Amino acid sequence: MKKYLIISIDTEGDNLWSVSDINQMITTHNSKYLFRFQELCEKYGFIPTYLTNYEMAIDDVMIELGREGLKKGALEIGAHEHAWNQPPLYKIMKRPGKRGKPYLSEYPKAVISQKLERLTKTLEDSFQCSITSHRGGRWCLNATIVDELSRLGYLVDCTCTPGVNWKSNRGWSPFSSGTDWSMKQNEPYYLNSEGNPVLEVPVSIYDQRDSGKQSWLRPGLYNKNEMISLLQYIYDREKEFAQFMLHSSELMPGGSSIFTNAGKIDYLYKTLDELFSFAKELGFEASGITDYAKIYAGSH
Ligand SMILES: [Zn+2]
Repeated sequence: MKKYLIISIDTEGDNLWSVSDINQMITTHNSKYLFRFQELCEKYGFIPTYLTNYEMAIDDVMIELGREGLKKGALEIGAHEHAWNQPPLYKIMKRPGKRGKPYLSEYPKAVISQKLERLTKTLEDSFQCSITSHRGGRWCLNATIVDELSRLGYLVDCTCTPGVNWKSNRGWSPFSSGTDWSMKQNEPYYLNSEGNPVLEVPVSIYDQRDSGKQSWLRPGLYNKNEMISLLQYIYDREKEFAQFMLHSSELMPGGSSIFTNAGKIDYLYKTLDELFSFAKELGFEASGITDYAKIYAGSH
């Protein structure tokens, strides 16, 4: 049985999370640091999917990386939105007191539609390709968003975090909360029964049997062995795919609270090199998310 390593990168601004209000300037210096990551993926023949935010979709360096990689078939460009920074901007009512960043699900249906349309169009213009994969910001997805994705011709979404409930993470407006993925498994499934089908391909998150702790295929500073064990576990259970995730800002020294300097980034690359090398050894094959969705549709 063939198995695929899906590499998803939430490709977004440097300080998207630290801006205190929705109208502050977001910088995109981390795009320059993505070439090193792309090179590593190409060393092993893996095909990363850059799920790209609006501010990165209009960043010249990111556009260069994307276009060059697309020419070689070495990467995929997908969509990722953080609703507060996705035109058209629209003011929603604030929650009093402490609040989180707005989820896309908090906006009126017409605004959700306009935001996704604008993002898709911007990505298509910048990268000169069709955009068919999506991940919601803050792991947010609902039926309205799925309908819009289907209408816009998306084939696959990868917002699902199996076993994780984001309900207690506040949004911007009163009564808003995150998406509950706690009952979902690490298996693909179709999100809709009407319109063009959109396949959900979850991020790989498994419960550790002894501690109940969740293991993600997502680098932290000290989880190299955990990720390698997780990949072996996925392989042993004859799963068809493993989905890795990371943020683009985490590849820049100081771009995240985890990888705060160049030394830590070098250490991250050592980890990534070992992980990808191990995946290759196990026989995981390369696939962008959309190609995986097509393979799945053809075989199920
Ligand atoms: Zn994001």
